[in-house]
Amino acid sequence: MNFRIAVRLGAFLAAALVLSACRAGGSRFVLPVAFEEPHTAATLRYPDDFGSHEAAVRGVASLLSRELALPVPDHVMVYIYTSRAVFEQGLVTDGRLPAVRAAELSEFAVGVGKRRQLLLQDEGAPPAAREWLRLVAHELTHVAQIELAQGEGRAEQWLAEGMAEWAAFTVLERLGLDALAERRAAALGHVREQTALRQSRLDLETLGTPRGFTVRHLREGSLATYQLAFLMTDYLIRRHGFARIVEYYRSLAAGRGRYETFRAAFDQSLEDFEAEMLAHFGRVLR
Ligand SMILES: [Zn+2]
Repeated sequence: MNFRIAVRLGAFLAAALVLSACRAGGSRFVLPVAFEEPHTAATLRYPDDFGSHEAAVRGVASLLSRELALPVPDHVMVYIYTSRAVFEQGLVTDGRLPAVRAAELSEFAVGVGKRRQLLLQDEGAPPAAREWLRLVAHELTHVAQIELAQGEGRAEQWLAEGMAEWAAFTVLERLGLDALAERRAAALGHVREQTALRQSRLDLETLGTPRGFTVRHLREGSLATYQLAFLMTDYLIRRHGFARIVEYYRSLAAGRGRYETFRAAFDQSLEDFEAEMLAHFGRVLR
């Protein structure tokens, strides 16, 4: 998922979209996107090659696949909802989420990536808008995670969100719209606000579950919690490389459980990693 921020996205939806007016007030567009043609990331040009929603999804998928070796499935269904209410309804009818979870998610999220599905809320801006591309890249990374792990919710939740943020910033950097180094510096500024961190606690045990992650960011703020997840993932990537994160995801499919899979992938227990991160934040946030 991706937290709700002030995003105004323009309404340049292609004529090929299937439109249905919804009783909840707003519209729902269904856009099947196939990736069977060869990827052309090397020749992608921004913003010319991101002129429609379909082109934007294809372009982002090409970059994720080519730059980060993420396995993008050969097709995804993209659902675009033009209001919060229709988004909530779509999470139930298209995403098959329980109604209670859909109501909670739609309060703070603008996108959800499911198995070969992107469910996105679009309040109307061009497909090439920076925040739209960030949202598509974030949710497509979740789609790739599900392909790798052959299931949902198997990874540490902070790592799932941190990886999606990291991949999205990398796509934006490749398009000349952002810089990872700047994101890192900005994130450090935000995590200072985390109450838990100020009390020298990270509580990765809780932050590692979807429910625990949600509770934490409702309590301590979405931005700070996602930035914390980004920084911890960034730390792992700088030590082991992004390919190791992909391998971790692939190894989740073996079903050895969260603690053993983490330890095998990163050569240390979750507990030891937590202690190391606390010491790291203690130094850099002084
Ligand atoms: Zn997410």
